[in-house]
Amino acid sequence: MTAAGLYVHIPFCSSRCSYCDFATGLYQSELAESYVRALIREIRSSNFAGQRVDTIYFGGGTPSLLAAEDVAAIIGAGRDTFKMTPDAEITLEANPETVTSETLRAFRDAGVNRLSFGVQSFRDEELRRLSRLHGVERAKAAYRDARAAGFDNISLDLMMWLPGQQVTDWLESVDEAIALAPDHLSLYMLEVYPNSPLREDMARSAWSQAPDDDVAAMYATSMERLEAAGYQQYEISNVSRPGRMSRHNLKYWTDGEWFGFGCGAHSTIDGVRWKNVSATEEYVARLGANQSPAGDLRRLSRDERLGDALFTALRLTEGADIAGINARYDVDAWSRFGQDLQRFVEFGLLEVTADRWRLTRPGMLLAHEVMTVFV
Ligand code: SF4
Repeated sequence: MTAAGLYVHIPFCSSRCSYCDFATGLYQSELAESYVRALIREIRSSNFAGQRVDTIYFGGGTPSLLAAEDVAAIIGAGRDTFKMTPDAEITLEANPETVTSETLRAFRDAGVNRLSFGVQSFRDEELRRLSRLHGVERAKAAYRDARAAGFDNISLDLMMWLPGQQVTDWLESVDEAIALAPDHLSLYMLEVYPNSPLREDMARSAWSQAPDDDVAAMYATSMERLEAAGYQQYEISNVSRPGRMSRHNLKYWTDGEWFGFGCGAHSTIDGVRWKNVSATEEYVARLGANQSPAGDLRRLSRDERLGDALFTALRLTEGADIAGINARYDVDAWSRFGQDLQRFVEFGLLEVTADRWRLTRPGMLLAHEVMTVFV
């Protein structure tokens, strides 16, 4: 059995960003303390103790709001409970304004060996529009402090299609990111949700998002610049230096297995999927009463597993290993889906050979359309 990953959800933030659609609340120290205790209890009481694990990912929310000793205690619980490989990748998502040289060194000493900074933009005006708490100089200083603290594996998140953002604005952020030379970058497209405060801000201030052709240019040009700077695109939204792909996130895209801890966290193991209760207080109360926080388990049918395997593998630039998937699920995937996929092949969005299906770069921009075939 290949090694699984551990996902640890931290549902606290310093304030609420205007575009955010994640289930996260404001940081309260008492609740955070009891939440960490609950997390450790959930990890230590896992039914899967002894399973081989090679990644831990602290996601949120804003995991860098935790004290380093709490992060160390959670990692320690993971090591005590699971068979952790010595080279395990341990990632912490961090917001630039929450860290200092000291806290970064403390996270490193706690065992974190990869940081993922939510930078989003290298233009102050755009950061203000998103109501982010950091500015450009703070983000750069946090990055430099992280390098000085010994982090040799750093990822930056950037967001395109921001309100009022032109193609040149976006490329300015991409160039600034390249100049910092991170090991990994995630480039996301902003989605403006129906009742988000950002939508109201956009209406009030007459900010609009760039037309589709400009977004296509943003995506294609940034990927070209990143490739020219030595990065390899390995997934629709992710590029890395050679050997620096996110080992944890690859589990989601390669039919892998993971255990999620914390409120709202999902787990997938051996074709069985479950989700923990979403509300932070309920999660803490359940663990306090020695009850499981897990909702109903669902065993996926073979068809659902096949659809998921194709859906996620097509996110990778190397595409889906169809020969392997056909063998694993005892199907001929083209006979099953070929009729619906043929038009995407004809439009140059999908390349199909006997062994592999792969989205082209234009296809990656329209991945959502292609993926609906498998849902
Ligand atoms: S920091 Fe991230 S999770 Fe927290 S409110 Fe902002 S976007 Fe949402």
